[in-house]
Amino acid sequence: MDKPNLRGFELEELRELFKELGEPAYRGDQVFHWLTARCALSFQEMTDLPKALRARLSGLFSLELPEVVDLQQDTDGTVKFALKLEDDLQIETVLIPERDHFTLCVSTQVGCPIGCRFCLTGKMGFKRNLKVEEIISQVVIAKKFVQEKGFELPLRNIVFMGMGEPLLNFDNLVKSLRILSHPKGFNFSRKRLTVSTVGIVEKIDELARVFPTALAISLHAPNDKIRRQLIPIARKYSVKELIEACKRFPRVKRGRTTIEYVLLKGVNDSLECARELVSLLKGFPFKVNLIPFNPHPELPFERPSEERVKTFQEFLLSKRILTTVRKSKGLGIRAACGQLISRLPQSQPHRQGTCLPQ
Ligand code: SAH
Ligand code: SF4
Repeated sequence: MDKPNLRGFELEELRELFKELGEPAYRGDQVFHWLTARCALSFQEMTDLPKALRARLSGLFSLELPEVVDLQQDTDGTVKFALKLEDDLQIETVLIPERDHFTLCVSTQVGCPIGCRFCLTGKMGFKRNLKVEEIISQVVIAKKFVQEKGFELPLRNIVFMGMGEPLLNFDNLVKSLRILSHPKGFNFSRKRLTVSTVGIVEKIDELARVFPTALAISLHAPNDKIRRQLIPIARKYSVKELIEACKRFPRVKRGRTTIEYVLLKGVNDSLECARELVSLLKGFPFKVNLIPFNPHPELPFERPSEERVKTFQEFLLSKRILTTVRKSKGLGIRAACGQLISRLPQSQPHRQGTCLPQ
């Protein structure tokens, strides 16, 4: 049988585990610290544990990380890691440099079951949910990379905007969030952990109850008619219901929920759409992040002109809606929004690219 991987364990679980092994509970604290804050790769590194215990742990548990099978760096500093999982499926994780920190774009599923028409990840279909250790491992690999390269910028933000729909892997997402935010471990502020969702209303409410973080909603349309043409699950949840769920969601440290809006030429980029969006959002402190569509030969849409994007943005700004345009980073290595795909074993390397909130 496979050895349990300790990277998927919360602090409390590690304490329990050590008690069961006949060891003091504080050994759990020590191991948790090594795995998270220190990014240890082996039990041997854990020098404050007795040698005999390290040997025992190596026999019982695994700390294995996915293998980095490809690493590409764009001229803008964006780094894309292709990671091979134990069943040979692959996922992608993107590290993006910002002015004073790095942001990591993390995947939660292999593929995605939602199938938005403008998204390459959606097009590849759904393979499986990621385990907690596979989500956490993406952070360990990136953090280790930042440390080893001697970069001055800290890894401070995590956005769940890689492959997959995070709220459809809910339990593993929440457990990962708990591990990532624990003050004795990675210690990410909840405000700097952003869950991006296509809008599964009951799961947004559940996240609000169990572990509120920063929230981003992939809205992409100001009304049901357009939204349903782009996002199959929009047939189940109306735009109005979705916006109501966002308003109910707690504002972590007074942060604003982000409304993500992919601008598709001739589909949702008109002034009329901008007007409708304003009336939908007015009176509540949202922020809008416009994402000019990242084209791909397999996707049936076009990117609007820069002028059109600017006009759309300026209209929202003129109505006092905080609006930014997301600069796609990593386009040169196909690491941009919606361009992350999984390469199946034996398939040709398929160079893809992420976008980042500005
Ligand atoms: N499934 C979640 C998390 C993935 S985030 C969600 O959809 O929110 C991926 C972000 O990239 C989403 O906002 C998505 O709408 C956007 N995106 C997908 N395909 C894109 C494309 N071709 N061009 C620009 N943005 C895209
Ligand atoms: Fe899935 Fe998000 Fe892509 Fe839609 S945009 S297919 S929900 S990853």
